[in-house]
Amino acid sequence: MVFFAAGFETTTAPVAAMLAEGVPHNLSLLLSGRLTWPAVAMLLNSDTPGFDCLIAPGHVGTVMGPEEWEFVVQEHNLPAAMAGFTPESLLAAMYSVLRQHLEERPFLDNCYPEVVRPGGNPAARRMLDTTLRVVDANWRGVGVIPASGYALAPDYAHLDVRARFPDYTDTARKRAGQMPPGCDCAKVVLGRIYPNECRLYGRACHPAIPSARAWSPMRVPAASGGAAACASGGGTSATGIYVKQFIHTGERNGPEETITMIFSAISALSGVNSIQLAKIQK
Ligand code: SF4
Repeated sequence: MVFFAAGFETTTAPVAAMLAEGVPHNLSLLLSGRLTWPAVAMLLNSDTPGFDCLIAPGHVGTVMGPEEWEFVVQEHNLPAAMAGFTPESLLAAMYSVLRQHLEERPFLDNCYPEVVRPGGNPAARRMLDTTLRVVDANWRGVGVIPASGYALAPDYAHLDVRARFPDYTDTARKRAGQMPPGCDCAKVVLGRIYPNECRLYGRACHPAIPSARAWSPMRVPAASGGAAACASGGGTSATGIYVKQFIHTGERNGPEETITMIFSAISALSGVNSIQLAKIQK
C-alpha cells in the first residue's frame, strides 16, 4: 500500500506525526511535500515578483510560526500579513497590507491570531525535524528551488516507495516535470495568472471528472465555469486597532455587515471600485 503524501507544511506535519507513531510494515510513502516560503523568496529575489504586498498563509504559520515570513519585510521592505481562510480574515489582511503600503510602513501583521502563534506548533515542528529532511525540490513547470522540499530522514528512508519499488522510478515510466500541452500550472503557482485563466481549466482539467485531469490525453466538453486587511489587530498596531473596530462592530451587526464595511474601507484606501471588489468577493 502506497500513501501519496502531497502538500505543504500543513499537510506534511500529520505525515510526520504518523511516521513518529509508527506505520504498518506494508505501508510505503510517496512523499511530495513542499515548503512555501522558499518559493516566495525565489519570486522576491527575481526581477519580476509580480506583487507589492504579501498575504502569507496562516495555516502554514500555524505550524511553522509567523517568523518565517519576517524576511518579506526585513529583506524586501514589503507589507505582509498572515491570513486565515475566513472572509473576515482575508479582508482584514487585505486592508492591513494596503494600509501598510499607503503609509509606507511595512510590518508583518498577524490577522489570524486565533491559531497563528509565535513559534508555531512546537510538537508539529519537532516531528517534522525528527522524521523528515529539507531538500532541494522540483516544482512543476518552475524548476528546482533550493531547500524547498521534504524527504524522509535516514531512519525512515526504508519506507520510501522509490526505494522499495525502484522499477517505478524508471525514467521511461515517469512524467514528472512534464507539462501537458496547454497546462499553465507554473503561471498559476507563480501568481502570473488566476487559476481559471489556465487554458485547461474546466476543460481537460476538471476536479469533477478525474479522468480529465491535465495528465490525461482525454478531452472532455468545457464545463461552467481568485489581495489584502487584519482581524487580530496585530497587537497594538494602528491597523489592528482600526480593524478591531470593524470586528467589534461586526459582533453586533453580523459578518455580512462587517465584510461590507471592510470592503468599503479597502475601496476608499485603494481606489479599487466596488465592482472589482465584488468580483474578488465572489
Ligand atoms: S487547470 Fe489543471 S493544468 Fe491548469 S493550472 Fe490548474 S491544475 Fe494546472
